[in-house]
Amino acid sequence: MPITQESAPSPIAQRLEVIRANLPTSVRLIAVTKQVGVEAVREAYAAGVRDFAENQVQSAEAKQAELQDLTDITWHLIGHLQSNKAKKALELFEWIHSCDSLALAEKLDRLAGELDKSPQVCLQVKLLPDPSKFGWSEAQLWQALDRLAQLSHLQIQGLMTILPLGLTDAEMLHTFQSLKTLATQISNQGTFSLPHLSMGMSQDYPLAVAAGATMIRLGSIIFGDRP
Ligand SMILES: *Cc1c(COP(=O)(O)O)cnc(C)c1O
Repeated sequence: MPITQESAPSPIAQRLEVIRANLPTSVRLIAVTKQVGVEAVREAYAAGVRDFAENQVQSAEAKQAELQDLTDITWHLIGHLQSNKAKKALELFEWIHSCDSLALAEKLDRLAGELDKSPQVCLQVKLLPDPSKFGWSEAQLWQALDRLAQLSHLQIQGLMTILPLGLTDAEMLHTFQSLKTLATQISNQGTFSLPHLSMGMSQDYPLAVAAGATMIRLGSIIFGDRP
């Protein structure tokens, strides 16, 4: 019997199947939908994805408005958040991976209190110099821990990082391992525990998983190259 168009898995479903086949079930796959149309988002949803990420508040708002019928999606913010969009971000996202300064963390905490929300937060760390990226240096993060621990409306869950371009595989692995070490050291120090590591994108996620990622953020490998 010929395979009909409807019964053939979509390219998106096929790519997800390949990715999942080699992924420990403990790793949460987050589909990054920036510049991806809602039809493709629906295909990923149909293939079982429930975690989706956007890097901008505005584009997320438009997309979520078109996907309101998919009520069990968890939305993640992964891009730099300007403080004037913090309130909107809390309304749109359950997870904020890109908390990259104490000022932002404090603002999110205050607004979360007002909105009666308790967002899941990752602290974005910049382990290597990268002028195009935001994030805490390790020293800044250590210094801020006591203040961060007082932000009672935020559920600080872990660390997030984005690697600079141009690293070798060995350097990538080493940098991911450094994030894991940092999270372990902070957790051991007892201020709060950081069980989650949000690290790994399409080009580097197998190395991130090998280093202990609990959440990977995949865009182009699922949806194809962005324009
Ligand atoms: C775009 C983006 C991703 C996904 O990148 P791909 O290379 O398409 O997988 C992951 N994390 C962040 C922060 C991003 O901005």
